[in-house]
Amino acid sequence: MASPPSDKKCRLCGSNKLVLAKKSDLTTELSSVNFSITDSHYGQSLDLFSCGDCGFLQNLDTAEIGRYYEGLEDVEYENTREPRGLQAKKILAGLKKYVPAGRLIDIGAGSGILVEKAQRVGYNAVGVEPSVWLQQRAVELKLPVLLGTLPHPDAGTGYDVATLVDVIEHVDDPVGVLLNVKAVLKDDGFLLLTTPDVGSFFAKIMGWKWWDYRIAHINYFNLQTLKLLLDKAGFELVKTSRPNWYFTLSYFLERAGQYLPKILRFKPPAILKKIIIPLNLFDSYEIICRVKKKQLF
Ligand SMILES: [Zn+2]
Repeated sequence: MASPPSDKKCRLCGSNKLVLAKKSDLTTELSSVNFSITDSHYGQSLDLFSCGDCGFLQNLDTAEIGRYYEGLEDVEYENTREPRGLQAKKILAGLKKYVPAGRLIDIGAGSGILVEKAQRVGYNAVGVEPSVWLQQRAVELKLPVLLGTLPHPDAGTGYDVATLVDVIEHVDDPVGVLLNVKAVLKDDGFLLLTTPDVGSFFAKIMGWKWWDYRIAHINYFNLQTLKLLLDKAGFELVKTSRPNWYFTLSYFLERAGQYLPKILRFKPPAILKKIIIPLNLFDSYEIICRVKKKQLF
């Protein structure tokens, strides 16, 4: 699909001035495998269109994307529970300055890694997760993660904060998702989200080989389009930062190896699975924002 269907519009600003920026790399039929969290096919994407008005880079033929997440199974993700736990701890430590305690809802909660850490640091935390397999893992661990997405009949309302860690780049209606989030927050509630930054230094120098070009990523934000997203959904920006990610050394070397010639690639020894390293390439944003105050006049 090289040209945008004529009825398609930019999902952020509604403009129909869409220009094909990158053709799809997909050679097989789309399936849940393409949407696994630990998908290692970096530098691949579906057709990406750039909006002539707001500049937002997006894929537009993914209306059925929800069902791929429902069927998602990802054993590798469970193997990375420890480094992802460290990442969640770090995110929560930063959040505490703005929301010291209270009710937290994690959207796209996976197997409940952030929910578990949030409970440990004093939040009353729940999660919502569309993958049956991942939600089942959370239930086995006795973590309160509901199956599905918002709006959810059992999620309730009145939350102090919602978290979306690397979620917004996956959804076919990012403004709608944030509006649903806002609906479960208190009037002065906070939102924390993280997402890759397509305007970052590494995204620019790596070009289309950048590791955050993935089949599953259908939205590519920079600071300008993130601000537009927040504005459309009725949030005001409080703070931006560059989050740390954590990997086992083994995972990191395996993934980084993809960028080396084949002859230089090697299978890292098992011992490196025990060593966890932080990494900050300044190519993701962590955004803390809050519900915009209602205008009285
Ligand atoms: Zn646009």
